[in-house]
Amino acid sequence: MTSDKDGPTGRGVRESEIFRDGPGTNFSNSIGAEQGLESFGERSRARPARPNKTFAESARDIPVYAETDVLVVGGGPAGTAAAIAAARLGADVLLVERYNHLGGLSTGGLVIWIDRMTDWSGAHIIRGIAGELMERLPKDAIQGPPRATWGSRDAASAAYWAQRTAAYHGIVTWSPTIDPEALKTLSMRMVSQAKARLLLHAWCAAPIVQDGAVKGAIFESKEGRHAVFAQVTIDASGDADLIARAGGQCESDIDTGDIHHCINTAFLMGGVDMERWLAFRRDDPDGFAAFMARGRARLKFFEKPFVSWRNDVALFMGPRLAGYSAINVDDLTAVDLRSRELAVGHVEAYRTAAPGFADAFLMLGAPQIGVRHSRRLVGRSKVTREQWPTGRVFDDEIGVSPSLSPKFPNISVPYGALLPHGLDNILGAGRHIACDPSSHSFLREIPQCWLTGQAAGVAAALAVGSGRRPRELDAAAIQRELLRQGAYLSPSIAAAVQAPAAAE
Ligand SMILES: Cc1cc2nc3c(=O)[nH]c(=O)nc-3n(C[C@H](O)[C@H](O)[C@H](O)COP(=O)(O)OP(=O)(O)OC[C@H]3O[C@@H](n4cnc5c(N)ncnc54)[C@H](O)[C@@H]3O)c2cc1C
Repeated sequence: MTSDKDGPTGRGVRESEIFRDGPGTNFSNSIGAEQGLESFGERSRARPARPNKTFAESARDIPVYAETDVLVVGGGPAGTAAAIAAARLGADVLLVERYNHLGGLSTGGLVIWIDRMTDWSGAHIIRGIAGELMERLPKDAIQGPPRATWGSRDAASAAYWAQRTAAYHGIVTWSPTIDPEALKTLSMRMVSQAKARLLLHAWCAAPIVQDGAVKGAIFESKEGRHAVFAQVTIDASGDADLIARAGGQCESDIDTGDIHHCINTAFLMGGVDMERWLAFRRDDPDGFAAFMARGRARLKFFEKPFVSWRNDVALFMGPRLAGYSAINVDDLTAVDLRSRELAVGHVEAYRTAAPGFADAFLMLGAPQIGVRHSRRLVGRSKVTREQWPTGRVFDDEIGVSPSLSPKFPNISVPYGALLPHGLDNILGAGRHIACDPSSHSFLREIPQCWLTGQAAGVAAALAVGSGRRPRELDAAAIQRELLRQGAYLSPSIAAAVQAPAAAE
C-alpha cells in the first residue's frame, strides 16, 4: 500500500505505521512483534480438528416472512444507507440485521473514528447520507475540526488535529470521532423515517437463487427459518455472504504490507484524561517511547489509544491480529479470545504507568468483532491501484473517494463495482465491493461504505421502479438521483447528467 511512500503523516500510515518496509513487503516477524502486528500467516493456535463427516439435512417447507421490493442484508454503514436511499425513492424495503442495532462496525464494532470525507483540498466529497448522518448527530456526540478548517495547511491547526486523528500530510481533514450510541439511535430513526422496515435478530443464511437471479433470502431467527422474496437484494453483510453463497465469484487476496486483512475486537477505556495523555505524548517523547517499549515487552502487541468523542474515553482499535480468516468460525472465536486477553493487559499496563490513565477501566469490548476484510466481489468493473494516479472518471461513477495521499487525485468509484459478475438482481455494497487489495485499504472505510450503500439503494429502487435488472440500468439515471439526494460526483459527470434536465 502507498502509505509507506506517502510519508509519516498519511492516513494509511497512521493506521498501519507498523508496515515500514513498503508495499507488498513480506515483513519479518520481528517487525510485527516489535510494533504490534502478528506477521501474516502466524497465528496463536491451530484450528481445532473437525470430524470428517457430513449430515444430510432434510428438505422442508418454510414460511415466507415477507415479499418486498428491496431486501437489504446487513445493517452496517452500507446497509443502513442502502435502506434509507431505496425507501426514500418509494421502494418497499426490508432491512435484515443479525444484531440488535444499526451501524455495524461503526457502532457495534466501536470503529468510531469516521475516516476522511474531504479530499486534500478540503472539498466535502463524501456527503449525501454520510453528510446527513454527521450533521444530524447531536453536537456532543461528534468531535472533529470545524468546517472552516477543512483542507487547512496551517501548521498549528494541523498539529492540533493530527493528534486527534483529523490531519494527515499537514492538512486538516473532515474525519471526526463519534458516539456510537448516538449513531445507533440516529441510524434507526433515519431508517424508520424513510419508512424502511427493519428486522433485527435475524441472520440471513442463504440466498434464494433461480437461473442465476437472486430472488431473496432465507433467514434464521429465534422463530426458526423464514424466506423473504425480493425483486432486488442488496448484500451489505460486509463479507459478501449472499453473493458467495449464490455462486458469485469473490476475491480474497490480500496486501500483506497493509493492515486491511487484520482482525481484532476494538475496546474503549473509560475514566481517562485524554488531554493529559496527549500532552504527555507531545511533550515527553522519551517517556512515551519508554512506556511503549515496556508495554511491548510485557504484552508483545501494544497499542496507542485514539481520541474518542469525549475526553474521558479512549479508543483502542488494535492490537491487530493477522493470519486469521474472518469467515472461519474457529478463527473468529480465537480472535475474540486473544483480543480480550490483550484488552485486559492494556488496561493493566495503562493504569499502572500512562499519564491520564490512573483511573482507567475497561468500559466496553466491542459487541462486534472487527473484520476489515474477508471477500471482495468480482464485479463488472473494479477499482485498482493502477487507477490512482490517472484521475480516471468512470462513466458509471456512483461516488468519489478521497485518495490516500495528496499526490493522487480523487478516486472515482464505478457502479460496475457493485454488480456481481454472473448474478442478477443482487447488488453488493460496503467493504466487499469490487476492488484490488490496495484500493480495499480505503474503499472499506465507513464513509465509502455509506457512499456505496446509498448508490446500491438508489439503483435497487430504480430497478424496481423501471422493471429492469440492476445491470440494465442507465448509469445517468442513478447519477441524477444520487445528485438529487445530495451525493457528490465528479464535475464532468455532474455536468453531463444535469445538462439534459436543465435543457428540458
Ligand atoms: C478494527 C477496525 C478499525 C477500522 N478503522 C476504521 C477507521 O478508523 N475509520 C473508518 O472509516 N473505517 C475503519 N474501519 C473499516 C470500517 O469499520 C468497515 O470496513 C465498515 O464498517 C464496513 O461497513 P459495512 O457496512 O460494509 O460492513 P459492517 O460494518 O461489517 O456491517 C455489516 C453488518 O451486516 C450484518 N450482517 C453480516 N452478515 C449478516 C447476515 N448474514 N445476516 C444478517 N446480518 C448480517 C452485521 O451484523 C453488520 O451489522 C475499521 C475496521 C476495523 C475492523
